[in-house]
Amino acid sequence: MAGIKLQHITKRYPDGFEAVHDLNLDIADGEFMILVGPSGCGKSTALRMIAGLEDISEGELRIGDQVVNEKAPKDRDIAMVFQSYALYPHMTVRENMGFALELAGVDKAQRNAKVEEAAQILDLSQHLDRKPANLSGGQRQRVAMGRAIVREPSAFLMDEPLSNLDAKLRVQMRTEVSRIQQRLGTTTVYVTHDQTEAMTLGDRVAVMRAGRLQQVDTPRNLYESP
Ligand code: ADP
Ligand code: ADP
Repeated sequence: MAGIKLQHITKRYPDGFEAVHDLNLDIADGEFMILVGPSGCGKSTALRMIAGLEDISEGELRIGDQVVNEKAPKDRDIAMVFQSYALYPHMTVRENMGFALELAGVDKAQRNAKVEEAAQILDLSQHLDRKPANLSGGQRQRVAMGRAIVREPSAFLMDEPLSNLDAKLRVQMRTEVSRIQQRLGTTTVYVTHDQTEAMTLGDRVAVMRAGRLQQVDTPRNLYESP
C-alpha cells in the first residue's frame, strides 16, 4: 500500500490547453478518494497522470515515498481498473484475471492461487471457466476488478468503471466496490461525474471544476456544507 501525493500538478496539452491547473491532493495510504466533477473538468487527465499515461507539465507526483513523474506506468506499482468491455472475449475469467501475471512471468500454479483468492473476494469462484459473453454485466465488471486485484498493486485507479452498466446494476456495484476496497484496504482513486456515486462510495471526495480543485472533504462534510 502507498499514499499518493500531488503537489502543484499542472497539465498543459500540446495545443496549449491547460486541462489541470495547480492540483494539490494528499491521498492517504489505504484511502478511497473520489475525483468528481462535470465532463471536461480534468478528472481523467489527473488520473492518467497518476497512472503515467499522460506526462505531467508541472509539479511533483509521489506514490509512497517515491517521486514518480518520470516513471513508466509499469514501474509505478498501480493498477488501472477499466470498464468491463475491456475484457478479452476469447479468454475465460481465469485467463482474463491471470493474464497480467502471465505476462509478468508468474508460473501457472501461483497464478491460479492468486486468481482463485481474488475470485473468492469478488464472488466469482463459480464462474472461473466461463467467457465474458456468458456473464452478467456486474460479473464482468468484477472480472475487470479482478484483473487489477491479482497484481496486488499499492493503488487502484478507476475511471468511471460503472458507467456502462444499467442504472440498477450500477447502484448494486457501488456497494460491491466499497466492500471490496474496504476488504483489501488498497489506496484507490476513483473518477466519476456522478454526484451520487461520489457521495456514497469513498472516504473523501475531491471536487474539480475547469481544471481546478474546488473542495476536498468527507461526503458528510460536503453534504452539510452550504
Ligand atoms: P474529464 O475526465 O473530467 O471529462 P478530461 O481530463 O478528459 O476531463 O479532459 C479535460 C479537458 O482537457 C477537456 O476540455 C478535454 O477536451 C481536454 N483534453 C483532453 N485530452 C486532450 C488532448 N489530448 N489535447 C487537448 N485537450 C485535451
Ligand atoms: P473519455 O471517454 O475518457 O472521456 P475522451 O473521449 O474524452 O475519453 O477522450 C479520448 C481520447 O481523446 C483521450 O486520449 C483524450 O486525451 C483525447 N482527447 C480528448 N479531448 C481532446 C481534445 N480536445 N483534443 C485532443 N484530444 C482530445
